[in-house]
Amino acid sequence: MFDLLHLKPEVKDKPDARSLAPEHPERGCAIEFRDVTFAYSPERPVLKGISFSVPAGSTLAVVGPTGSGKSTLMRLLFRFYEVGGGAIRVDGMDIRDLTQDSLRRQMAVVPQDTVLFNDTIAYNIEYGAPGAPRVDVERAAEAAEIHKSILTFPKQYDTVVGERGLKLSGGEKQRVAIARAILKNPAIMLLDEATSALDTATERSIQGSLSRVCQGRTTVSIAHRLSTIVGADQIIVLQDGLIVERGSHGSLLEQGGLYAEMWHRQLEAEEEARTGAGAKEDS
Ligand code: ADP
Repeated sequence: MFDLLHLKPEVKDKPDARSLAPEHPERGCAIEFRDVTFAYSPERPVLKGISFSVPAGSTLAVVGPTGSGKSTLMRLLFRFYEVGGGAIRVDGMDIRDLTQDSLRRQMAVVPQDTVLFNDTIAYNIEYGAPGAPRVDVERAAEAAEIHKSILTFPKQYDTVVGERGLKLSGGEKQRVAIARAILKNPAIMLLDEATSALDTATERSIQGSLSRVCQGRTTVSIAHRLSTIVGADQIIVLQDGLIVERGSHGSLLEQGGLYAEMWHRQLEAEEEARTGAGAKEDS
């Protein structure tokens, strides 16, 4: 992300940019997209007029086929790029009027694949809030349910992890990302659900940690497995840069459109995976 920021110097703070400083970050910030358009190159619009609002403390899940614009929407909210048209507001303020630093301080990202630095596990968690005291790092690790595993590492919190150190499993890396996010204590949580195969038990338990962390904060998640967003306050379905459906899980199923189709396809795929051997015999 920070590499990207260096490559994108055109996102500049206004001289009179204001600071976003919610008094109670744990209660979330309201987010509003109003008729947002965006293109990476002028001849190819990617977002074609996106409007939605996420009340403070509620959850929005974004679903849709690959290439529909889900990640782009997140990047715009993080202000990697400026919107082409329309506006994004956080707590009523146009994000172009805010300092990038104060905006990003209120957002924690739990990405698909967490990059670990070749440094200690403590450093890797502290990265969420550089300079945080060790006791806070450990508390965040506890909340992310990785503290106990860390105590089994050769040098505990001082164990070097990453490419040239102790290799962590996919699930442990996700928990590092969650601990980073907890330590940052943001008003807005951005989740990019892992597509990678974690085993079901690990995934369930990570989902549990995540929903505790996101409790009360405004959460925007990109979901691939629809089962993880059944409880989202609001779901939007993107297709070719447009919102084609919106609503709760139940109402979207009733609509019988793209979401319902995706849902049934996933159920079938899961069913097939479970009865894989049998399916092969049938064919
Ligand atoms: P999703 O996350 O839903 O898979 P994306 O937001 O990544 O979709 O992509 C939306 C569209 O924008 C796609 O057609 C993709 O090829 C294009 N795109 C994504 N990132 C870039 C980029 N950095 N430069 C140019 N085009 C991009």
